[in-house]
Amino acid sequence: MIAESVTEAQHSGAPESQSLLAINNIEVIYDDVILVLRGLSLNVPQGKIVALLGSNGAGKSTTLKAASGLLPSEQGEVSSGSILFDGEDITKVDAAERVKRGLSLSMEGRHVFPDLTIAENLQAGAYTQRNTGELFDFVYEFFPRLADLRTRVAGFLSGGEQQMLAIGRALMARPKLLMLDEPSLGLAPKLVEETFGTIARLNAETGLTVLVVEQNATVALGVAHHGYLMEQGKIMLEDSAEALAENPDVKEFYLGVSTSGEGKKSYRDVKHYKRRKRWL
Ligand code: ATP
Repeated sequence: MIAESVTEAQHSGAPESQSLLAINNIEVIYDDVILVLRGLSLNVPQGKIVALLGSNGAGKSTTLKAASGLLPSEQGEVSSGSILFDGEDITKVDAAERVKRGLSLSMEGRHVFPDLTIAENLQAGAYTQRNTGELFDFVYEFFPRLADLRTRVAGFLSGGEQQMLAIGRALMARPKLLMLDEPSLGLAPKLVEETFGTIARLNAETGLTVLVVEQNATVALGVAHHGYLMEQGKIMLEDSAEALAENPDVKEFYLGVSTSGEGKKSYRDVKHYKRRKRWL
């Protein structure tokens, strides 16, 4: 029976891993009038890292908020389409229940509790869990720096340490799917490499499924299996990470490699654009 369905899937060209998250043709509206996502679909296969790329305002964070159920707190709603997690329709399921089911989001800008210690911040992330001892061990193994600083107050940590803490806190909910909103934001290049190295290790060693939103396409495509490129609330392009990294348009607009010489798409402009996006 199992062998038959595998053969069938192979014949139909279906992806070899099953979708853990399937976003099907969703529209998202804020304040009843501002249409931000316009028929967006994407799949995150079980056990894979998927990168969602796009420039400022494309709707990347909104996509993560739709998946994690956070839109209602911002007067946003999924007005059409559906979101499936682990085969179940969660479009109308509230955010807390989604965390319990295994969807965990580490938000842009870190959002740690500044007055709490590292250990207390991690404990706060484990509110859906009973046996937190092994979860602390797990997070400290992947982020040894957090173990060293566990009694420090989070507000005094460096940007990179706060980023690690935000990811560590999301891991304390024992997620099946870890969603990360711009983990590279504001980090020095070495720390960006380190953070993405840890994301790749988490995936390779534990099979954790990851959906990562990034403006730093180079580093995201470096660890992802598959990538989506979105603009103005829609997916413009999707492919394997290797194919996207070789795509001429992606190279020019997102990887800062000029293939056209003069004009708007020059390396200098792209670099300037990227820098502007990063620091404004
Ligand atoms: P960035 O890379 O700058 O974070 P993004 O791709 O994550 O951008 P979103 O933050 O999802 O984009 O925003 C997409 C659009 O939705 C933008 O035009 C933004 O102004 C709008 N938007 C986002 N949040 C809200 C909100 N709470 N109310 C109204 N409009 C919003």
